[in-house]
Amino acid sequence: MATLAEKLIVAPGSKFKLGKLDADRTFGVQKAAAARKLERNIERLSELQYRLYAEARRAVLVVLQGIDAAGKDGTIRHVMTGLNPQGVRVTSFKVPEGEERRHDYLWRIHRACPEWGSIGIFNRSHYEDVLVVRVHNLAPKSVWSKRYRQINEFERSLSECGVTILKFLLYISKEEQAKRFEERLDDPSKNWKFSAADSRERDYWDAYLDAYDEMLEKCSTQYAPWYVIPANRKWFRNLAVSDVIAGVLERMKLEFPKPATDLSAVKIT
Ligand code: ADP
Repeated sequence: MATLAEKLIVAPGSKFKLGKLDADRTFGVQKAAAARKLERNIERLSELQYRLYAEARRAVLVVLQGIDAAGKDGTIRHVMTGLNPQGVRVTSFKVPEGEERRHDYLWRIHRACPEWGSIGIFNRSHYEDVLVVRVHNLAPKSVWSKRYRQINEFERSLSECGVTILKFLLYISKEEQAKRFEERLDDPSKNWKFSAADSRERDYWDAYLDAYDEMLEKCSTQYAPWYVIPANRKWFRNLAVSDVIAGVLERMKLEFPKPATDLSAVKIT
């Protein structure tokens, strides 16, 4: 039987229609069972991260993308909660400014890539350069259309150098987004998260779907696959992301380094 990760991965080169996805889908997983599994996954992640850190020869890069309010921040908070902060770095990519604007679009991305032994988490990423940039014509098509290939080449070289890349697209329905925006307006503790600009982006919903579809078709690769996560239910989203990351880290066969000297001969005086 296919694992959850196998059900969520986008097969390289396959056509994807995000608009047809049921964002409520939970693949038969029940909420109570998911909570227990999430707890176990958090423990697994903590143990695996420890090995990755000890080994210090490779790195893991987790890319999170999603429409506004899809839950990128919440995923980081809930799934990464057991990780040792020494070995993890979250980078949030905003509208490029200053020095970033004086370089190619991958410059700030490469600089933020995780060092050996650590996990890098991108809250938004180089994919903004084929999403928001495309939807709002921030660059001409002749420029952004080449980026799918450039991104694949960049990710291929990262992966060949020892960076394991996992990419998650969190997908919520337009109705769920409206509900979350309403909450941001109604709940004083969430007011700060509301931005009128985000709600204006709703007018571009279909253009974003087209941009996501092309990104998934062109940039889900063997070496850096996309996983599409139905994210209306936060508990399922957290379980799914934690399951995929733990599974991938397990397959890396992370080993503690062998001691450089014969430890049995060491005497602590
Ligand atoms: P978030 O929504 O991620 O919590 P912000 O509200 O500050 O954080 O939004 C960041 C904004 O930066 C988003 O609207 C995003 O589309 C935009 N952005 C990120 N990267 C780029 C880019 N390369 N070009 C243009 N806009 C970008």
